[in-house]
Amino acid sequence: MTFRLFDTLSGAVEVVEPLNPGRIGMYTCGPTVHDQAHIGNLRTYLAEDLLRRHLEARGLQVTQIMNITDVDDKIIAKASAAGSGLAEFTAPFVEAFFRDLERLNIQPAHFYPRATGYIGPMIELVQRLLDSGHAYQSDGSVYFRISSFPDYGRLTHLDTAGLKTGASGRIDSDEYEAKETVRDFVLWKAGRRGDLAAWDSPFGWGRPGWHLECSAMAMDQLGESFDLHCGGVDNKFPHHENEIAQSEAATGRTFVKHWFHPEHLLIAGGKMAKSQGNFVTLSALMERGHDPLAVRFLLLTGAHYRHKLQFKESLLEEAAKDLERLASFWKRCAQAEADLPTVPGGPDPLAVASARAAELFEEALDDDLNLPDAIGTIFELLREGNRLLDKGLAGREGAASALTTLRQADTRLGVIERRAAVEEVLTSIEAALLKQREQARRDRDYAASDRLRDELLGIGIQVEDTKDGTRWHRV
Ligand code: AMP
Ligand code: ZN
Repeated sequence: MTFRLFDTLSGAVEVVEPLNPGRIGMYTCGPTVHDQAHIGNLRTYLAEDLLRRHLEARGLQVTQIMNITDVDDKIIAKASAAGSGLAEFTAPFVEAFFRDLERLNIQPAHFYPRATGYIGPMIELVQRLLDSGHAYQSDGSVYFRISSFPDYGRLTHLDTAGLKTGASGRIDSDEYEAKETVRDFVLWKAGRRGDLAAWDSPFGWGRPGWHLECSAMAMDQLGESFDLHCGGVDNKFPHHENEIAQSEAATGRTFVKHWFHPEHLLIAGGKMAKSQGNFVTLSALMERGHDPLAVRFLLLTGAHYRHKLQFKESLLEEAAKDLERLASFWKRCAQAEADLPTVPGGPDPLAVASARAAELFEEALDDDLNLPDAIGTIFELLREGNRLLDKGLAGREGAASALTTLRQADTRLGVIERRAAVEEVLTSIEAALLKQREQARRDRDYAASDRLRDELLGIGIQVEDTKDGTRWHRV
């Protein structure tokens, strides 16, 4: 296995070697369910989906855990404002999240632990840190003592030597940016019995900090040391830095071998974020007529996962066209495999091109999931395949082999077969008109073919003549 992936911890591209032969434990930071996910969040989940699919294509058995953060400052504030309980407030967002994953053909994780279901293991972890002197109590809350963990900052390559650790005080907020002053962070937040979100513990009523939630759920599900931990780049600091500190301080073992951080989706030059109000949801795009598979295709192939991607709706239209071309080629190869004879004398040139494309596709993905390059080889195959089929130079073996390459690529892409399977059905009148038009074109009776095209458009069928043949869709 020669799959190489950029690892934030080492700051270099590393060969992924599983801790346990043949198996990978993978933790992905999931949604904070105070709102619908936006397509920026979904870009991150798609990059993680690609990573998992590629590991599986390499024969590894992956166990993927994705948490659902169903208690945090924002959820509590919004639920109180809405006058509802936590579970009642978060339920529709959890449901919308799973619907988005399904629409985008993201493979479900093996388990989705919810923070509110893991309060016991979280309390135990805080207790371990208190017992070993890595944590201290103050005003009913418990804080992690940064000065007790000299390795703090290793993930984000912070130089903590000149920083004022501990002395500069503590921080109660889950999210903060100030790397200049590393501060003790909260593990358990003081609360009162009867609060919207409060649990009893040996250190008093309260609730867990966000960072603690992920450490406890990850170690409960995957063990104290596991292979891969993922989240968008904004999760590196403080979230993942704090996860490492509290987990390793408690266990004395390496928490995670490799860290995977896909880059952000931007809109109008800025980060797409719930807090900025500049976000676009998958549902909104679907209401405007976009195919979720085109969204998947754009977010996966629009840029390498380590590069920012600028979202524009016009890019979705391009993606939909690309997807349509791939699906047509898929269908054309399936048909050609059934209809065509073997090409006489020598290897089928399409079989040769397909085998080469498959190799290049895998090489590109093995090189830090370079999907933009990998998809380039598939489009080259599509152009060459259509050319050979148009000229009658390819036969059934070539078509079969092209289909094999497409299938293999689609175990990672997750779009072509789904798109090809969407059979739009014509009524018998529509089908008859379309057939007449095809006959008129074969007869080179362009006046009749144009008249039939307009007639079809009049009843809502847009016909388009492309180099890959005639296509139609409803308008
Ligand atoms: P949240 O629901 O805010 O906890 O975010 C869920 C995931 O989405 C995290 O892994 C974030 O790092 C990621 N994320 C947030 N904003 C963006 C964005 N604009 N582009 C890509 N990923 C994002
Ligand atoms: Zn997390």
